[in-house]
Amino acid sequence: MYRSHTCGELRIENVQESVILAGWVQTIRKFGSITFIDLRDRYGVTQLLFGEELNKQLDENSLGREYVLQIKGIVTERSNKNKNIATGDIEITVNEFTILNKSAIPPFTISDETDGGDDVRMKYRYLDLRRNAVKKNLELRYAVSRSTRNYLHENNFMDIETPFLIKSTPEGARDFVVPSRMNPGQFYALPQSPQTFKQLLMVSGYDRYYQIVKCFRDEDLRADRQPEFTQIDCEMSFVEQEDILNMFEGLVKRIFKDVKNIDYTDTVERMTWEDAMWNFGNDKPDIRFGMQLLNIKKPSSVYITKNDQPELVSGADFKVFDEAETIIGIAVPGCCEYSRKQTDEITEWVKRPQIGMKGLVFIKCNLDGTFKSSVDKFYSEEKLKAIATAANAKAGDLILILAGAEERTRKASSELRLEMGKRLGYRKEDEFKLLWVMDFPLFEYAEEENRWVARHHPFTSPKPSDIDTMINNSPVITDASKYLEHPYANIKANAYDMVLNGNEIGGGSIRIFQRPLQEKMFEALGMDEAEQQHKFGFLLGAFEYGAPPHGGLAFGFDRLCAIIGGSESIRDFIAFPKNNSGRDVMLDAPSTIDAKQFDELQIKLDLK
Ligand code: ASP
Repeated sequence: MYRSHTCGELRIENVQESVILAGWVQTIRKFGSITFIDLRDRYGVTQLLFGEELNKQLDENSLGREYVLQIKGIVTERSNKNKNIATGDIEITVNEFTILNKSAIPPFTISDETDGGDDVRMKYRYLDLRRNAVKKNLELRYAVSRSTRNYLHENNFMDIETPFLIKSTPEGARDFVVPSRMNPGQFYALPQSPQTFKQLLMVSGYDRYYQIVKCFRDEDLRADRQPEFTQIDCEMSFVEQEDILNMFEGLVKRIFKDVKNIDYTDTVERMTWEDAMWNFGNDKPDIRFGMQLLNIKKPSSVYITKNDQPELVSGADFKVFDEAETIIGIAVPGCCEYSRKQTDEITEWVKRPQIGMKGLVFIKCNLDGTFKSSVDKFYSEEKLKAIATAANAKAGDLILILAGAEERTRKASSELRLEMGKRLGYRKEDEFKLLWVMDFPLFEYAEEENRWVARHHPFTSPKPSDIDTMINNSPVITDASKYLEHPYANIKANAYDMVLNGNEIGGGSIRIFQRPLQEKMFEALGMDEAEQQHKFGFLLGAFEYGAPPHGGLAFGFDRLCAIIGGSESIRDFIAFPKNNSGRDVMLDAPSTIDAKQFDELQIKLDLK
């Protein structure tokens, strides 16, 4: 028997018991003729006391950090109790020990506050995983997956595996490809998601499917993306959007309960994509706080049908505003007393390359009811007051105004809102706010190719009321400059994203399930019949055999875990993650392969 208990298990009730423990040496503290060792395993740390007798043996068989040790001894009450650890009331008086294995000196300290930088920790990830901080994250991940499986099982979902070696199913990213030895010159693709398979399973009658599954996307890795990541992938038949929203709000609420003991009883809010873009500047707003945007001016973009209020700033000869495509203001509560230094600092913040604005205009709504702004030269008190009223600003607020090109300005205002929300403490790690964002446009215009692309993916159905528009109009864009006037620009998707604290944690749609509409969709995306047949013949074929109405969604599992765990980084929740260049620094992968492997594949490497 290697051990009778774990290193996290023994308590004052166990005093006098003979026990056997096994684990890793965390620390060694010598005091004259006695030695204390903290022994660690997955479950905790237990203090060991080596008395005079054994100390001599220790001198002959000296131990080091991370040695694997087995001890036999008696549980004893500690005189110097440690309230910070669960086993802190006791220690083990050791009477026998065996070194099960030695350890080289670890390249960093294996403790909560480690001295190891990111690179070295990733290179020795198996050691990093011994640290409490990382272990806690993996435990949380496991708790989220257990809760998910329980909920879905109780709701009749069936976990069905789908293949990894498949044919390319474009979902907006690049595929990873795998050469086939048995079919020289041919390649499999790794799935970007099991999308088409889960739809086929609906055709097969498995009306509630799920899978916690790896997906592969060969994207340029923006911060905090991984080339392989995990989804909770789900699909249901005979459902409408409402059924799906209810089912999966239920899932997330259940996870909150099981993992965080949070009773999320609020109704999950819903917002149209247009409202999100208009009021928050992006399609995944953090609704833990207000500070909605004041849209002073916008270009005539079709997607935003709401009214701007350019008269608030016009006629004052202020060039910056007169020439700007878009002007957006934010009333920041209680910040009217910001010093010059503070407003300068925010101005510098919006000028950073990541935000890319040229400057910032501000209006202080003083507590005495007066106004002071950086554009006093151009605007009277009365004008400033009108802006403040439109922005819903109260006395004491500071209004920040950005002006510039539409896309950049909207994005910058969204970022600025989040930044100010963070500075004011509105973005609390332990407060969770869910939101459904809905009614996305079905298509996006791809300027370089002058054609439509699917905003979600090609299997997403238009809103029922837009189906006729789609079928009765040609997708061809004759005048690129007027693409916004094309009927397709206004078609809305039967799609929904779930947003948690300003992060998209999941998304899905009601699918197209009839062949003619699916063909029309492919045609709209610029695929001729031959291409449709080559890429999606199997799906179109399946739709001939009684495909039921269906829909589903997928959650980004890594991200969901990270947010619930209060972290910004999904890497912390993946046992063996890749770095920002898509490398596994521990394995040193990707790497070259042997000449023999190329031969077998009948591939000759000729790098451009
Ligand atoms: N397959 C989709 C995705 O990966 C999710 C879905 O539509 O169910 O984004």
